[in-house]
Amino acid sequence: MPDDRGHQPPFPSPDIFNAPPSWRCIDFISDLHLHDELPRTTQALASYLASTPADAVLMLGDIFEAWVGDDMRSQAYEASCVRFLANAGQRLHLGMMVGNRDFLLGQDMLNACHAHRLTDPTVLHAFGHDVLLIHGDELCLADADYLRFRQQVRNPTWQTAFLSHPLDARLSQARQMRAASQTRQQAQTPETWADVDEAAAAQWMREAATPTLIHGHTHRPADESFGIEGGMRHVLSDWDLDHGHPRAEVLRLSAKGFERIPLIP
Ligand code: MN
Repeated sequence: MPDDRGHQPPFPSPDIFNAPPSWRCIDFISDLHLHDELPRTTQALASYLASTPADAVLMLGDIFEAWVGDDMRSQAYEASCVRFLANAGQRLHLGMMVGNRDFLLGQDMLNACHAHRLTDPTVLHAFGHDVLLIHGDELCLADADYLRFRQQVRNPTWQTAFLSHPLDARLSQARQMRAASQTRQQAQTPETWADVDEAAAAQWMREAATPTLIHGHTHRPADESFGIEGGMRHVLSDWDLDHGHPRAEVLRLSAKGFERIPLIP
């Protein structure tokens, strides 16, 4: 295919997740981008987690704006997040997939939150639905610069070297990267960010035998025909209650199907 997109990534071996028959509903959220300058967004997540009737909350990545290693959970803001995440994790099944922001979130943090790792990709079987769950960044094939960065930072050798630096040094590097990323984003809007490549997604949906795809990352919520014949995708909303255009939304799956629940009036 002579275009400017990268090669289609092969379908990684997915985890299979069979929802227990006793479950009645599963919530999906993503792209909270939590950090200490988002008090309303953080409070909204804590309130939602404390009150959702769902048997499981599956978080599809970018829960945190930055995650430089699980020792970060000792910082005051992150420690406050651990408290409400752990309360939820003890009350319901809390699944965490990493995104492009918080890809270093590891087993120590999952344990602290009583959470379960959600592999990217995961095939979910629930209430008669077969659903492919991904964060979405790996299939934004038009974003070649990011995909090169991704290949570098998902390498275990790179991660071991990065994590060997003191926490202060890692936090300071994350601040610099965030400032650079904000400068880049000022030239862009969510409308111009790369989208999940439909042909590549279709290939993954075929290999997973799932007519339904759920992803986050692009911050462009939608429920639409996608990928394969009869295929659908549900794109999750990002959350931000601290700036203009407040938004926070849950995608809920039950035997009745999919439903979007806005958390703000
Ligand atoms: Mn993302």
